[in-house]
Amino acid sequence: MQAQTAPGTPAILDTRGRPLRDLRISVTDRCNFRCTYCMPKEVFGKDFQFLERENLLSFGEIHRVTRIFRDHGIEKVRITGGEPLVRRKLERLIEMLAYHEDLDLTLTTNGSLLKQKAADLKAAGLKRVTVSLDALDNPTFMKMNDVDFPVEKVLEGIDEADRVGLAPIKINMVVKRGVNDHSVVPMARHFKGSRHILRFIEFMDVGSTNGWNLDSVVPSSELAARIDAELGIEPAEANYRGEVAERWRYKDGSGEVGFISSVTQAFCRDCTRARLSAEGQLFTCLFATQGTDLRSLLRNDSSDVEISDAIARVWKVRGDRYSEIRTAETAKLRKVEMSYIGG
Ligand code: SAM
Ligand code: SF4
Ligand code: SF4
Repeated sequence: MQAQTAPGTPAILDTRGRPLRDLRISVTDRCNFRCTYCMPKEVFGKDFQFLERENLLSFGEIHRVTRIFRDHGIEKVRITGGEPLVRRKLERLIEMLAYHEDLDLTLTTNGSLLKQKAADLKAAGLKRVTVSLDALDNPTFMKMNDVDFPVEKVLEGIDEADRVGLAPIKINMVVKRGVNDHSVVPMARHFKGSRHILRFIEFMDVGSTNGWNLDSVVPSSELAARIDAELGIEPAEANYRGEVAERWRYKDGSGEVGFISSVTQAFCRDCTRARLSAEGQLFTCLFATQGTDLRSLLRNDSSDVEISDAIARVWKVRGDRYSEIRTAETAKLRKVEMSYIGG
């Protein structure tokens, strides 16, 4: 049975008045990288139990649940993981979701397979792509990805995505003090004047295995000062209320950079994001300790209306504001891993 809510229906609000607007969908918990801040090798080794294939939502199930979310006012869908491009035939899912032309459909990738896949993704209807890249020199980049993956291949992937029309591309750089913070200015210099937008992300205490501590976080204010001193930047207006990245522009007009300051400047107040794990658990915060099982509903003959009501019930009681109340103690909570919940 179809959900009764029509597109354009006012979004449901949580207990803090925040509407449900964005959905991040993880299509796999697997990844070909072992970034130390996300899937440290010591934990995600060869004995690690990833999800079995039959437990992953099928593309048909993802499409159905996305349609139901859309009827709740979702405007943006981001495909993520793990590494989404390791899921076979991902372009088929993109094609199914792109059917909803009013959805802002994007994808976050580590870029390793982008050169091969960019044209198919674009043809399938993907609108834009975000590529994670933590350094430009191989010793530093390989220290971050921890699988000796060469930076040149990611740069080729970015070029190909640009060539096929997925630009402007957002480039995400997670900064860890003493590991890759010396790469901040070289990265800014490299992408300055390109159409792409480099965004610096403060290292976060996601999951419970990445050994996070406050000393490893370089506050965005410090990064902005470093870039300003070398290249000249000034604050710019936000594009829309609740924009996650704080925008700064180059004073000479050659583009902009962004800062995502989840640790030093929490933005929970405007957080409109829900996350769906690869096995269909719904989470209302990146730092959640538990989710709600939508897969069972999808697989037990529940109607669209029943699933829609279940989503609304979860969102209406949401009160999450982890980043606003983060302390050294909360950082030790057993939170769900980012590779599972979807970054
Ligand atoms: N594998 C894809 C990628 O790396 O782009 C998509 C999934 S990844 C979990 C999504 C984003 O989360 C990436 O930009 C990554 O850098 C970021 N991320 C992962 N762990 C993080 C952490 N501890 N702190 C801040 N950002 C993190
Ligand atoms: Fe993989 Fe992305 Fe996590 Fe790195 S950040 S380990 S590329 S999922
Ligand atoms: Fe949203 Fe949770 Fe992050 Fe706050 S901590 S911005 S509520 S995901």
